[in-house]
Amino acid sequence: MAGSLTGSGGGGGGNRWRDLDRLLTRPGNIVGPTFDPSPELRSELQQYVRVLVVGAGGLGCELLKDLALSGFVNLEVIDMDRIEVSNLNRQFLFRLQDVGKPKAEVAAKRVMERVKGVNIVPHFCRIEDKDLDFYNKFNIIALGLDSVEARSYINAVACTFLEYNSEDKPDEDSMKPIVDGGTEGFKGHARVIMPGVTPCFECTIWLFPPQVKFPLCTLAETPRTAAHCIEYAHLIKWDEVHGGKPFDADDPEHMQWVYSEAAKRAELFGIPGVTYSFTQGVVKNIIPAIASTNAIISAACTLEALKIASGCSKTMTNYLTYNGLEGLHTKVTEFVRDKDCLVCGPGTLLELDPSTTLQKFIELVGDHPKLQLSKASVTHRGKNLYMQAPPVLEEMTRSNLNLPLYELMDKVPKDVVHVAGTVNKDDKKTSALRKLRVVFKGIDGVTDMDTANGA
Ligand SMILES: [Zn+2]
Repeated sequence: MAGSLTGSGGGGGGNRWRDLDRLLTRPGNIVGPTFDPSPELRSELQQYVRVLVVGAGGLGCELLKDLALSGFVNLEVIDMDRIEVSNLNRQFLFRLQDVGKPKAEVAAKRVMERVKGVNIVPHFCRIEDKDLDFYNKFNIIALGLDSVEARSYINAVACTFLEYNSEDKPDEDSMKPIVDGGTEGFKGHARVIMPGVTPCFECTIWLFPPQVKFPLCTLAETPRTAAHCIEYAHLIKWDEVHGGKPFDADDPEHMQWVYSEAAKRAELFGIPGVTYSFTQGVVKNIIPAIASTNAIISAACTLEALKIASGCSKTMTNYLTYNGLEGLHTKVTEFVRDKDCLVCGPGTLLELDPSTTLQKFIELVGDHPKLQLSKASVTHRGKNLYMQAPPVLEEMTRSNLNLPLYELMDKVPKDVVHVAGTVNKDDKKTSALRKLRVVFKGIDGVTDMDTANGA
């Protein structure tokens, strides 16, 4: 090992992959079940594995750099944003002269300049602009996002590729693994989503607490923190004084007014910590992004991607939290799947004759022993096939009732249908939403195996 560091820099000398090769060429006790250590593994990784990075912001920049330096060669990145001055403190691939340019394009270019041999294709667009075929060509999707909605969207996309066999077992070849990172100030998480095996994003959506809203009585009567004083000025005092004039968070005069009112209140109750920038933070719900948190979370995500791609170690099970606020704390928690998850769960298999009308289908759903959903409304790929309510939608979709479901589903031989209705539980009617895997008998593309064990 002595003296072997020469040539290990970005130039791509002989020892550049020394650490990676150590992981890929040695057997071990905690490797994945199919791991086959060999010197060829690295070139296979580079040849066959394609990774999509979603987001080219604070986390996305780190992810691209880390993946490139970990031996991944075929990368693509998608981001709809342009570079802003305020990004430059942490989104380290960007320079002042890049302000206004698409993040994805600049990030791809910078990493390719620095890491020899890597190929990064940028996509300057919304994630919704790409079709399923685009997402399907990747082996792993790495998320560097800051919104629940975007994560939920990608999760749903990845889960649409998941197939279940007739015993409701997920088909491994159809799994599209997601590695999801997220940071908020000094806190962060990294998680591995193996659709059908580990909880998907939707299974654990309850992890995201609703946005912090203080009870109005606390704000009005017993403020205890600087944020309480600020929200009092923002939510209560502003209306009292300005009567109907809407508060504009982007108007510095409005912000200054809230700040000075909050400061007065804080003094009255002896509460420290009200500053102008903290007032902005509370009112606009800004959480500062911290470069080191992004770096740590990205490293964890990249390592998981490498484990998934090579099998050189088992992946984490399945959710890592990091907290660097006071000291440092990390922990991996095993979250469990929601068996009834509408996104990653198998749903109920229902075999139908292609001539089955939507009306008949709704009756079947009502009589089905596992479902017993009455007054069902039916949607397919976001399209309302039949809606029980409101009356205007009922009227619009009523004519579908006499049409064969197969035709309403654009003649897809098998697909997922969502059904909303009511179930009787302990003599009480409760609303329920169910996922159904509908398979049409005798249509090309459906094998005997698919239908042999059907319901
Ligand atoms: Zn799920």
